[in-house]
Amino acid sequence: MLKEVSLLDYMVLVEKVKAYDYRYYTLDKPVISDKEYDKHYASLREIEEQYPEWILSDSPTQRVGGDKLPFFETFVHPRPLLSQDKVQFDEVEELKTKLLDKTEGEEYTMEWKYDGLTIDLHYNEGHLVSGATRGNGIEGELVTEQLKTIKSIPLTIAYKGKVEVQAEAYLTIDGFERYNEQQIERLNEEVNLLGENANLKRLQEKYKTIANTRNGAAGSVRQLDPKETAKRPLDAYFYNVRFIEDDSIRKQTEAREFLIENGFKVTKDFYVVKTYEEILEKLEYFEEHRSELNFDVDGVIISVNDFAAREKLGYTSKHPKYSIAYKFEAVEDITPLIEVTWPVGRTGRHTPLGWIEPVEIGGTRIAKATLNNLAYILANNITLEGKVYIKRAGDVIPNISGGVEGSEGTAIIPPTHCTSCGSKLETEWPFLVCKNHDKCPAQQIQKWIYYGSRAAMNITGFSKATAEKLNDAGLLNSLPDLYKLQKEDVMMLEGFGEKSSQNLLDAIKKTKKCEWHRFLMALGINTTGTGTAKRIAKTYSNWDEFKLATYEELLSIEDVGPKTAKVLYEWINDPLNQALVEELFSLGVTPIHTDSEPKGSGLEGKKFVITGKLEQGSRDYYKKLIEDNGGKVSGSISKNTDYLLAGSEAGSKLAKAKALEVEILTEEEFLSKIN
Ligand SMILES: [Zn+2]
Repeated sequence: MLKEVSLLDYMVLVEKVKAYDYRYYTLDKPVISDKEYDKHYASLREIEEQYPEWILSDSPTQRVGGDKLPFFETFVHPRPLLSQDKVQFDEVEELKTKLLDKTEGEEYTMEWKYDGLTIDLHYNEGHLVSGATRGNGIEGELVTEQLKTIKSIPLTIAYKGKVEVQAEAYLTIDGFERYNEQQIERLNEEVNLLGENANLKRLQEKYKTIANTRNGAAGSVRQLDPKETAKRPLDAYFYNVRFIEDDSIRKQTEAREFLIENGFKVTKDFYVVKTYEEILEKLEYFEEHRSELNFDVDGVIISVNDFAAREKLGYTSKHPKYSIAYKFEAVEDITPLIEVTWPVGRTGRHTPLGWIEPVEIGGTRIAKATLNNLAYILANNITLEGKVYIKRAGDVIPNISGGVEGSEGTAIIPPTHCTSCGSKLETEWPFLVCKNHDKCPAQQIQKWIYYGSRAAMNITGFSKATAEKLNDAGLLNSLPDLYKLQKEDVMMLEGFGEKSSQNLLDAIKKTKKCEWHRFLMALGINTTGTGTAKRIAKTYSNWDEFKLATYEELLSIEDVGPKTAKVLYEWINDPLNQALVEELFSLGVTPIHTDSEPKGSGLEGKKFVITGKLEQGSRDYYKKLIEDNGGKVSGSISKNTDYLLAGSEAGSKLAKAKALEVEILTEEEFLSKIN
């Protein structure tokens, strides 16, 4: 039983939780911990269960109250919502003819043009009465119950008259990424649980991801069941007061003040400017900060501030003449997927690579992007000859984020046999694996490259192309062959002179004296990243000790689970592997055990963002290194980011990392962390 509560106690608690919500969702400045908040929210629930007659319509518990609708009712907008006239980023001069020349001496406001779903809300007597989508501007759909689930949309406001406000509902970028990750994780769990019995078509329906944030916002709001909408990472920014009963707002700046005073969420980026030069300067600011936002934008809205001046300008048949949307260069495009290839990695995994009808985004021509694995293709509904979204935001690697609904082609058929050696492939959901590890040429080459990679033996200049050339020339058929190479042989390869050949041989020779844990890692035992290699090296100071380890002993190594222990045990007891190690030793490879306390890389579970120009390896290289060490890489910085790996000329991300007090690492600092 609850202790005695009065109606007044209840009302005070409602206001308290509302205030916490406002701080958290609207201002992004929480004042209490999530745990404390949950406690207050739970007691609110409890009181309402005991005294249902007290429940206030604007209680935070009442946001997800609506039942599933049979269909969406049409909502006729009392005032049409016109679309915006546009100026493209490469025709910025048009701002003059389209807006400035006709409005000399006026002030202009500038703020983000959100890339989500435009919504229109009506309040009366301080309460949210209706919320609708823009639709065609004349008629939209009534989605009041759905919009109520968005916590930054106030259910009550201080203003008591009739007022109509416009906002953009959007998916937060980190929420969108998390939602999709979870969908794929759940899909994988279920497939692995069901095994052969998994009905992939049905699971695809169930765990479909959201392909892009704009369609995702519309799709999430337009769920007939508000409870479904409530699950989506939706938020809303308000930017217009379209009607107010007492006609008290005469400027855009006043509209913004009204919105803030009444608890609506507004962006901090709002500027008043007067001249073309000032507009250009601000546009530069907006472009620069675009990639740091946790929501998608596609431009900037530039409007005449004064409403009297607006009325004088009037409208064309389609657009208001007082407002222009400046459009950024697009970061996303739609293009058909024309082919999927399945290159083989070191461990035999076939990672699907999508080849698209090339598109140019931000001055870069993009022809391919990874499709990751079977689950990614399935959940994202990616099909052959179907259209896909391709996105390149900021300096992130281009990404195929999903198939375009209604433009599907045929299902992507994964290969049944290894694309390198022809062995039958096995499915280890969500991966396709060639198990012919010792003979498969593609896996062999990848293993050699891995052996020479920076985190392992660090053979400078030993690239994939070089490994392939050596293999083609018959000079490199196994790892030990590396140590048998002669300068004359290497010089015969295309692109190699005397000096570069000598450099390569020197780099190989240097690895003969190597650290024991690096050697362990270089062997490429599946699942053995830097961290595990270091812990093994700590327990076994040389190969002779290591090769005699029992399964139980291996299992007792820190962070080594049954799966890894089994892989390790099988590896050291395989005569082929034993022979390989012995041969490397006989060729002069001498791993040295240093007694210094090896530490884990400490990257497990850490979230990284990579930015700037990197000198010592490509972005992909670092991404892989981070992931091999148990870390994660994401595209945008948030307060959940642990490290920013920053090369030279790092711009806005570096600034944001500093602002959020995210630890910043140079390449050297990063590499010394894992070595
Ligand atoms: Zn193979």
